[in-house]
Amino acid sequence: VADPPLIYLDHAATTPMRPEAVAAMMPFLSDRFANPSGSHRASRNARLALDEARDVVAECLGVKPGGIVFTGCGTEADNTAILGVVRARGGIAVCPSTEHHAVLHPVEHTGGRVVPVDGNGVVRLDDLAEAVTDDVTVVSVMAANNEVGTVQPLAEISRLVRRQAPKAVLHTDAVQAACWLDLAALTPLVDMLSLSGHKFGGPKGVGVLWVREGVAFEPLLLGGGQERDRRSGTHNVAGIVAFAEALRLATVERAAGNARITTLRDRLVDGLLALSPCVVETVPRAVKIPGSAHVLFTGCESESLLFLLDQQGICASAASACASGAMEPSHVLSAMGVPRERARGAIRFSLGVTTTDDDIDHVLAVVPALLDRLLAAPTRAMGR
Ligand code: PLP
Repeated sequence: VADPPLIYLDHAATTPMRPEAVAAMMPFLSDRFANPSGSHRASRNARLALDEARDVVAECLGVKPGGIVFTGCGTEADNTAILGVVRARGGIAVCPSTEHHAVLHPVEHTGGRVVPVDGNGVVRLDDLAEAVTDDVTVVSVMAANNEVGTVQPLAEISRLVRRQAPKAVLHTDAVQAACWLDLAALTPLVDMLSLSGHKFGGPKGVGVLWVREGVAFEPLLLGGGQERDRRSGTHNVAGIVAFAEALRLATVERAAGNARITTLRDRLVDGLLALSPCVVETVPRAVKIPGSAHVLFTGCESESLLFLLDQQGICASAASACASGAMEPSHVLSAMGVPRERARGAIRFSLGVTTTDDDIDHVLAVVPALLDRLLAAPTRAMGR
């Protein structure tokens, strides 16, 4: 039996690389292989590409190139922001309970404060105001959530943090926002911002931490002093060049892409909701990024549904990719107060540049039979 066609609806886990980004990186994997930190002509040639990539990223963010620090991934950018500020200045770190673990764990590791969210995953501003006291040195609030897609009200949060703790650094994890939100509109609100290449058509293993001029932090990696002593380690020139090309394309295509993908997402979610009253939308679309379709199939086990979807060629996920495989309900859904029995049937479909009308048709065509099967035998193990 031939494999079913692949319907990839897991763009929040990672995106396929844009062909232009693949093409951009190839010369740096072959002829232009030199270490950009050297002084000879081959190094200068690689250095030129690095400088150009930095300029492109800065322009997409509406900031000066000197604030761009290339890192090894989004996790490293987040860790550097939280641990780096606390190590440089002491004090307390604060973040909402639905942050990615790349923020949550460093905040907890430093003995920081975790602030509750409401039922939509939006940070509770009263609780945030209470948590952001004078001794707070870094506050981190994600621009968009990786699991349920909730967009945080960063303008309000920025005003609150400036009022409560004027010397605190405000960081945002914009890893899931890069495809959908205007990053140049976010940078004026914050002091640090994290990105990860593989979430917008770039390569895995390349991240950026943008740092506002004058913001002090200790680097995580010590060594050769690259990135003006802010991130040691030989530059991944090929990855950085591809990161810049993917971010440039994501930026110029954002408005048109958002409109197209919102239409596809709405058709998918409306179609699923119409199937059965057991299908519930986790967060209203008004507070979400366009690519996110997160639904609760009440009475189903998400692992069983994912298994059946996979058999039909449909790639989706149950929680954030890093947490899937664990049987515990996701920390995001728990923090939002989603009851455990509902959280068990959570599925995240995440759309992106390559998603088509046919993909959505296919999902809507196959899910009814899968639901019938699961709801008829809700406790049957799926034999994985
Ligand atoms: N932050 C968010 C919101 C994410 O979704 C992810 C990846 O899933 C990360 C950080 C970590 O990025 P990376 O995979 O580049 O380490």
